[in-house]
Amino acid sequence: MTKEERAAYKKAYDDAHREEIKAYNKAYRAANREKLLAYEKVRSKLPKNVAARRAYQKLRPPAVVRLGNLAKFRYPTQRKAIWTLNNAIQDGRAIRPETCSRCGQKARIEGHHHDYSKPLDVIWLCRRCHVEEHARKALENDREVRSDLSGSSVEIRNMEQSDSSGARPNGALYHHDA
Ligand SMILES: [Zn+2]
Ligand SMILES: [Zn+2]
Repeated sequence: MTKEERAAYKKAYDDAHREEIKAYNKAYRAANREKLLAYEKVRSKLPKNVAARRAYQKLRPPAVVRLGNLAKFRYPTQRKAIWTLNNAIQDGRAIRPETCSRCGQKARIEGHHHDYSKPLDVIWLCRRCHVEEHARKALENDREVRSDLSGSSVEIRNMEQSDSSGARPNGALYHHDA
């Protein structure tokens, strides 16, 4: 078999078994969630991935511009939830705790929405736990979880918006903002 024939054969096989392959991959990810998270943690710190991420970030417009031009239209519900929470924090209707509700670490705490239609219903997580939560959700949903994030105007300024097209830098399992 030539290289071309092999490639054509593989493609035909993949096409014929697409659903099975998808189901298998999904089951694999579900069964190996912890391992994959640990792996991703290590992989994302490899010099080549760090460099790729930095280069990618340089290409991106400032977060504020991105939010204005993209996120506002793409993720109106998420945006609204974040703004509502930020406003509530600012007027003292919501209190941002000083420690992470998951690991107990004292750190800058971010609000994580599990339901964007309930803007003030958040769990308060440190950065690390928040990122992990998004990674977990992404694996669980078998897809990338779109932006949510945060809890203050400071966080909004640092926000990164994910691209729903899936065009993402290598190694970005979750996508994060804040
Ligand atoms: Zn934490
Ligand atoms: Zn979140």
